[in-house]
Amino acid sequence: MLRKVLIANRGEIAVRIIRECLDSSIEAVSVYSTADRQALHTIIATKAICIGGPRASESYLNISNIVEAAKACGCDAVHPGFGFLSENSDFARACEEAGIKFIGPASWTIDKMGNKAAARKLMVEAGVPVVPGSEGSVKDADEAAAIAEKIGYPVLMKASAGGGGRGMRKAYNPEEVREGFAAASAEAESCFGNGEMYVEKLIENPRHIEFQILADGFGNVVHLGERDCSIQRRNQKLVEEAPAWGLSSELREKMGQAAVKAAKAADYENAGTIEFVVDKDENFYFIEMNTRIQVEHPVTEMVTGINIVKEQLRIASGIPLGFSQEEIQFSGHAIECRITAERVFDNFAPCPGQVEFIHFPAGAGIRVDSALYNGCEISPFYDSMVAKVIAKGNTRLEAVRRMRRALEETVITGVETTLPVQHLLMFNQEFLRGGYDTGFIENHLKDILDIYEAAGGKHESV
Ligand code: ADP
Ligand code: ADP
Ligand code: MG
Repeated sequence: MLRKVLIANRGEIAVRIIRECLDSSIEAVSVYSTADRQALHTIIATKAICIGGPRASESYLNISNIVEAAKACGCDAVHPGFGFLSENSDFARACEEAGIKFIGPASWTIDKMGNKAAARKLMVEAGVPVVPGSEGSVKDADEAAAIAEKIGYPVLMKASAGGGGRGMRKAYNPEEVREGFAAASAEAESCFGNGEMYVEKLIENPRHIEFQILADGFGNVVHLGERDCSIQRRNQKLVEEAPAWGLSSELREKMGQAAVKAAKAADYENAGTIEFVVDKDENFYFIEMNTRIQVEHPVTEMVTGINIVKEQLRIASGIPLGFSQEEIQFSGHAIECRITAERVFDNFAPCPGQVEFIHFPAGAGIRVDSALYNGCEISPFYDSMVAKVIAKGNTRLEAVRRMRRALEETVITGVETTLPVQHLLMFNQEFLRGGYDTGFIENHLKDILDIYEAAGGKHESV
């Protein structure tokens, strides 16, 4: 059993994990940067240790400081959360070598699945459908153009180390391959320290449908159903829901089986997500595996009743999964809005600052995961996501109604957030119909912002 866990993260996900540890009678040790002395994850932990300066490279990405902190406190495990070091195999390896359990897959599994070009290869070998594209990575724009010629335009040039929608460019012709390749590779080099690229056919306006999986240390793998994450702006998710609306039970079955096969091929352990794109003809293709807990895990928890972070702790303790695939029950519908501190009329530019007042919603079917409190600072150094509002209903419509009501109850003053946009989205006809694709935001965001502005949104004080 685990006795003491270090949480190598900050913000709402660190708070989520600390709460789960405390609920399981496990001591929770936080690490924090000098910018996070007053952050909620620093305050509510059993113990908190300062690991460096405000820049992530000095603190939350500082492998040796984090491992030293875990050793100094006698922690027997480290939970990496998402972002930061969560998919960094060097970090997982450093934990393994220090005799500290990394709550996630083995470092060599991260190596295999973390490089997206390598993961594609592994999936092909395992018989999981991937998007047509290059066999592995491509060395330059000429090679990318040759592959584009073969598979047909349009194509997507993607960074092997990419994440969060970065390091990715579309190309509709050879000129765009040349421009986009260099730009995407440079972006990946600066974000992830690795400019390696690969090429995929661009599936036009697919749905993004992903499967949550859990795998224990005894070879048992189950999936917890799917999430539809097609509401994306610049390849970043804004709203997610479970289940995916209108997905046929045959397709769900096939995709679930492919997700389990993918996890088995990677000798996977712990929680992970297999992401697919689905085209108009219901063909589905693997795009990547996220070898960590995901931002949108609560929607799955709401419809399955399975506590994914608790399962992560149990799996890391060496306990076998307590249920089989057949025993997993799905009920109702859940929707999550990722609230970020951003100025929506200013191209969603981050809006750090001091929160004056917050009030979060409650009541039947509502959950809020956040690290905000009255008077807290939203730091300019980190990701702008500040709260996740999740609504569950017996039907999708009930979930939508509850989300509208929950967002109306929510008050966040002092900083601008995306909340009004997500609130208006809950009234959009096409959203209400469900089954939308990843082109949705590109087609509807301007309309939503126009309505918001016409209703006085731009002049609203915060
Ligand atoms: P998903 O949205 O599918 O969970 P992402 O790749 O978008 O996966 O990343 C998960 C989250 O991790 C992001 O929404 C963001 O909040 C955070 N994140 C991503 N990259 C970083 C990073 N380099 N540093 C800190 N946080 C990050
Ligand atoms: P990241 O690691 O940044 O999350 P992904 O490979 O998951 O990168 O892609 C991010 C998003 O980009 C997907 O959710 C999807 O909307 C879009 N996308 C990725 N690959 C393709 C593709 N081949 N065709 C069309 N859209 C794609
Ligand atoms: Mg992705």
